Amino acid sequence: MSAAEEMKNEQSRQFERGTANTVLHIDDVHKSFAGLHALSDVDLDVREGETHAIIGPNGAGKSTLLNVCVGRLKPDRGAVVFDGEVLTGKSPHEINQLGVARVFQTPEVFPELTVLENVMVPALSKRDGHFRLNPFKNFFREKAIREEAESVLENVGLQAQLSGLASTMSRGDKRRLELAMGLIQHPRLLLLDEPTAGMARHDTNATIDLLKKIKEGGMTKVIIEHDMHVVFSLADRISVLAGGRIIAQGTPEEIKVDPRVKEAYLGEEQV
Ligand code: ADP
Ligand code: MG
Repeated sequence: MSAAEEMKNEQSRQFERGTANTVLHIDDVHKSFAGLHALSDVDLDVREGETHAIIGPNGAGKSTLLNVCVGRLKPDRGAVVFDGEVLTGKSPHEINQLGVARVFQTPEVFPELTVLENVMVPALSKRDGHFRLNPFKNFFREKAIREEAESVLENVGLQAQLSGLASTMSRGDKRRLELAMGLIQHPRLLLLDEPTAGMARHDTNATIDLLKKIKEGGMTKVIIEHDMHVVFSLADRISVLAGGRIIAQGTPEEIKVDPRVKEAYLGEEQV
């Protein structure tokens, strides 16, 4: 084991001993792109069962932070620890297998598959540890998974579109499909990057209701969101990123009146 790995393991052990109800621990993360500091000194703890919102102006580093958590980007420094395991250095697939699912800002669905098949893929992948599309194997033999996929799709309001191709969906519907693809994995931690972007107001409200319902089930969520109505409807705690740094953390009530937050948003929408 290298010295760096040994250090990470020790950090992991310290973390396990320390904050018992912290499920995701982001520790001193830095990330630069060709000299641009997208993230600097980012420390953030997400507690078991909470909905933790990350807000901040465009370009603040929110998506970068999420991509570091899911293994799509490697931080230049620092670590992400989930449930006592250091995620930094693991592949997105390994991180997913540990119980972390994500819904990205740009929907990533399988355009050539139906809506139902799209939701069955992550469930099959979770069960089998991998998924390879086999044209000779009929999806629909997987009765239990198909039924669960149907039920999840009903929950997100897509029950009328099961057999449509994902490529023909609107952007808002693709977002709901991606949410269903996350939910069917029963993740311990769900990371959502602007889940209501591109949705009409009534679909946004339906998504808020759905995410509230999931909250009752105890799933821990990190939600990046630009829409303050969504943030204040869902978040237990909020972290504010600006210029790659966490400038404020607190309850929605604390964040609403924080002058640093108002300042960060000057020239953008008002908090
Ligand atoms: P947010 O999601 O808060 O809007 P991002 O995390 O997408 O912000 O971006 C933070 C900063 O990093 C921006 O200045 C953005 O242009 C830059 N950035 C993000 N991804 C890359 C990349 N892959 N290469 C170069 N610059 C990037
Ligand atoms: Mg973003």
